[in-house]
Amino acid sequence: MSSTILRVALKAPLHELYDYLAPTGGPEPMVGQRISVPFGRSERIGVIAALAATTTIAPERLKRAKQIIDRVPLLDSSLVELLNWAAVYYQHPPGEVFAAALPAGLRKGQKVSGATESRWRITEKGVAALDAAAIKAPVQRQILQALYSGEQNSTALAAVHDGWQRAVRELQKKAFAAKFTAELEKALPPDLPLKTGPQLNADQQQAVDQITPANSKTWLLDGVTGSGKTEVYLRLIEQQLGAGKQTLVVVPEIGLTPQLVSRFKERLATTVVVMHSNLNDTERTQAWLDASNGTAGVIIGTRSAIFTALNRPGMIVIDEEHDASLKQQEGFRYSARDLAVVRGNKLKIPVVLGSATPSFETLANAAAGRYQGLRLPLRAGGARQPEVNLINLQRYPATDGLTQPMIDAIGRHLGNNGQVLIYLNRRGFAPTLFCTSCCSCLECPRCDARLVAHQQRKLAVCHHCGFESRLPEVCAKCGGELVPLGQGTERVETAIKHLFPEETIVRLDRDSTRRKGSIEKHLEIIRSGRARILLGTQMLTKGHDFPNVTLVCVLDADQGLFGTDFRSGERLAQNFIQVSGRAGRADRSGEVWIQTLYPEHQQLQTLLKKGYTGYAEQALAERQLTAWPPYSHLALLRAEGSSKDTLYQFLAAARAGADQINPGGVRILGPASAPMERRAGRWRAQILLQAEHRPTLQAMLTSWRQHLVESPISRKARWSIDVDPIELF
Ligand code: ADP
Ligand code: ZN
Repeated sequence: MSSTILRVALKAPLHELYDYLAPTGGPEPMVGQRISVPFGRSERIGVIAALAATTTIAPERLKRAKQIIDRVPLLDSSLVELLNWAAVYYQHPPGEVFAAALPAGLRKGQKVSGATESRWRITEKGVAALDAAAIKAPVQRQILQALYSGEQNSTALAAVHDGWQRAVRELQKKAFAAKFTAELEKALPPDLPLKTGPQLNADQQQAVDQITPANSKTWLLDGVTGSGKTEVYLRLIEQQLGAGKQTLVVVPEIGLTPQLVSRFKERLATTVVVMHSNLNDTERTQAWLDASNGTAGVIIGTRSAIFTALNRPGMIVIDEEHDASLKQQEGFRYSARDLAVVRGNKLKIPVVLGSATPSFETLANAAAGRYQGLRLPLRAGGARQPEVNLINLQRYPATDGLTQPMIDAIGRHLGNNGQVLIYLNRRGFAPTLFCTSCCSCLECPRCDARLVAHQQRKLAVCHHCGFESRLPEVCAKCGGELVPLGQGTERVETAIKHLFPEETIVRLDRDSTRRKGSIEKHLEIIRSGRARILLGTQMLTKGHDFPNVTLVCVLDADQGLFGTDFRSGERLAQNFIQVSGRAGRADRSGEVWIQTLYPEHQQLQTLLKKGYTGYAEQALAERQLTAWPPYSHLALLRAEGSSKDTLYQFLAAARAGADQINPGGVRILGPASAPMERRAGRWRAQILLQAEHRPTLQAMLTSWRQHLVESPISRKARWSIDVDPIELF
């Protein structure tokens, strides 16, 4: 075997695998093992992605790998196959693709047994200090208080306060707290009596009967909000557990769905592990290992969980499969949904894509018979669909974003002891600061964008690059008066407080949820009924169940009505249906009130009269006529640079290369400036490729990328290829 060539995925600049000779001695090399290899003057750790008999590397340059780390491969061969496939399909360096599949600890070569983590405990001296109220610094006091209740790891302390690291260091210095290393316990299922679910209705039962472990197809579970999709997942998982199989559940944003996780834990007789970006390295490694060694029967995670190694894979569920966050938007730009379908096919296991507002891609796949469609058209447990009303903003002027009929509706529902959800997809106080004397708007110095006024933090903020400046009192150009135009959630919150001074309001947006754990706290206040008004951005639309919400207010239906992206209509419809679906979920019927300047707009009317399905049918027919996805396939070359000239030189060369390589059958558009041409001080432009057939596009992309990598001018711009882009900017 010593003549075998190991093809290793290494986090290194080249787009290729790196070839090595097998190490002398040690275990037999197998695909999926981690391995340490000499690289330049140092050593790196990678994964064996393939074995080969020959190599193109000259014998004198071919080095011998140092050591195989895993006797048993860490990644099974089917997962390795998926990762190799993804590297080719997404035109991304295999080293980075493999790195995405592993938690940092394992990437660095950590042994797979006996994972440990750092924890802190309070000392006797600390207890005494706390008793004597001797700690003045408030953060230190909070942290010590938390340690008083028991030992804590970094995640728990971070949830107490953002400044925990400094505080705990100070406490350690004073010997009030001590740091130690703890072995992680094996994740055992909690020893609690499990809850039982409701009796399934006929539609749910039909879905459960069809998606059997043996029926390894891709299923679209198209069910209106509240139709009981989660209940169907739970039953399917029980079937899988009965057959000794694991289920991987991918959700858009786990921080937003703590209820989902507890619902799974309460119902399933297995260890449920959770994987998301708020875990520390050790927790993530532990969760990953629990999945790969089979301890966990269910793995719930966000996007990157799609790469988790599974011991006995039985099913993959993608919840809210239409959600944009399932596509990574930087670096390795993969779609967790699409990879789930590929992975499921390779493993011959069922894949369930669930949504109340399926993506057009998925609808088209179902229509073409590639996916099996199942529908849950009714709300479970007899809840009715909400009644929808439009408020014409031309007739009823809004103050701080609220019209009188809207205010009346809010008052009425509060009076009937309901909860009210107010949706405005814009954070901050006002999106524009306008000078009344020179008629200019305050702009970001680094982007083609306006600065957003944030009154609470007294800042003008760019939502694109993060630039911040003090909120100016007068116009810098002419000294004129600056007025905030339009509204964000902060402004509406102020207005609502004024109108309903007795009520507690919970605001849910990226500003109000910066701190770890704050989303859970906000959601808890709502669910306990201590707050009756819930105000927020798109965060509100992500699958929460608020059983007492009887009124949903959409303050600005027109956001996105005239978007430039070919997908903006689809996005608008999804947001709209998702937020409306929060009304009247349980035994109380709900209402949705919508403010718009264009009550007659065809898109709104179609949505109202025909629902998402009717709207999607119409919009898909238009896509077919104009040959946009899903009726064609796209790839986008995005480039940016500090000089506009070099940027366009690069793109001109890229375009010339593309024209040369094009086998015919690929439409090449551009170079064109990105919709936001300057961002964070850099110029941005792009070339779009469009093809009717995926293989044609794929073949062309591979040669084009090669061409770009080899052309000297490509070093002058930062560029990347986005396959199946979901946004064209
Ligand atoms: P979805 O995931 O489609 O939004 P859920 O599974 O969360 O729907 O169900 C919505 C609500 O209806 C939940 O409170 C759930 O407990 C309840 N529910 C689901 N299925 C049934 C059923 N067959 N009978 C009664 N209640 C149900
Ligand atoms: Zn900016």
